Amino acid sequence: MPSIIAGNWKMNGNLDGVGAYAEALRAAQPKASLIVCPPFPLLAAFAAALAESEIGLGAQDCHARPSGAHTGDVSAVLLRAVGCGYVILGHSERRADHGESNAEIAGKAAGAIAAGLVPIVCVGESEAQRDAGEAEDVVRTQLRHSLPAGFDGVIAYEPVWAIGTGRTPSAADITAMHAAIRAALVEQLPEAGARIPILYGGSVKPDNAASLLALPEVGGALVGGASLKAADFLAIAAGAPSV
Ligand code: PEP
Repeated sequence: MPSIIAGNWKMNGNLDGVGAYAEALRAAQPKASLIVCPPFPLLAAFAAALAESEIGLGAQDCHARPSGAHTGDVSAVLLRAVGCGYVILGHSERRADHGESNAEIAGKAAGAIAAGLVPIVCVGESEAQRDAGEAEDVVRTQLRHSLPAGFDGVIAYEPVWAIGTGRTPSAADITAMHAAIRAALVEQLPEAGARIPILYGGSVKPDNAASLLALPEVGGALVGGASLKAADFLAIAAGAPSV
């Protein structure tokens, strides 16, 4: 299976930049599957610019319910209708800024799957939790409570302290965590657990992508800052192992 390289634009970008970015991605022949996750207002423009390409489109959040009195929220049904195939859920910035709980994230993941979206559920420990030797327990707990029964989608392991900091865990620590995540998924999800892709996220850049993407059980990358420039995003994708 090709690596998945997903770009999380967070609250960045604007309409002016969509055409050139999409064109650059369309012109490339990446070894990896690309997914772009821009802010909500850019989704329709991206859907048009990426039409009939292999490049995936994702949102950065959704509500658990398909419609209703939820001012300011966006349903997975509507995301699907505007052309999304994916949605990032439980990013640490949403867990921190919006107090999202594991249970809420599980509800959103169920809503996303019901609407036909592939959820990309983020998990990861804080620096204090890693220093205390709790990283694997924290992530196992997040997996147990953030994934609905029958979950089928993508997991992104993103240590909170590596996001936007230029710091990454050691290869040994990433390998150990991805192995622990795989074991937990196999135990928790007898159907899909063995094949769910596990992405690494946290300061993935063109110069470290190849070594990170070569690690066992690393099925791709969730990229924040370095996804904003098409050239950097594509350089990261070029670091994916050949299939
Ligand atoms: C992210 O926000 O998901 C992320 C991984 O950010 P960055 O690549 O900038 O560390």
